[in-house]
Amino acid sequence: MDCIFCKIANREIDTEVIFENAEILAFEDQNPQAPTHILVIPKKHISNIQEMAIEDQQQLLPEIFQAIQQIADEKDLGKGYRVVNNCKHNGGQTVPHLHFHLLGGRVMQWPPG
Ligand code: AMP
Ligand code: ZN
Repeated sequence: MDCIFCKIANREIDTEVIFENAEILAFEDQNPQAPTHILVIPKKHISNIQEMAIEDQQQLLPEIFQAIQQIADEKDLGKGYRVVNNCKHNGGQTVPHLHFHLLGGRVMQWPPG
């Protein structure tokens, strides 16, 4: 499958890893929208939230949020941060491999566009 985030997860593309365990990988977004902009992905290919099996929801989502919490501590985001998931076309998703954006280091605006 020609999926850029699968290639990053498989280390076919050289990427600096921010966080890794058996199921999860985190790396810097190549087009950062904030001083800290990290993508947290499951290594397994899942297209988006709507494609998550119940077992994936139960196993992977807690791990993803534990990773986010740990990265936020390591990146000194104690003043706060934003977690974003863009789901499918109307959500603004451009890479069809499930990922959560962790944005921090500045005050975020609301509402998002
Ligand atoms: P989304 O629009 O939610 O699908 O977000 C996709 C994100 O992936 C964008 O913020 C891109 O900048 C980022 N991105 C795409 N390709 C790469 C890559 N090879 N390495 C790091 N980030 C990437
Ligand atoms: Zn993939």
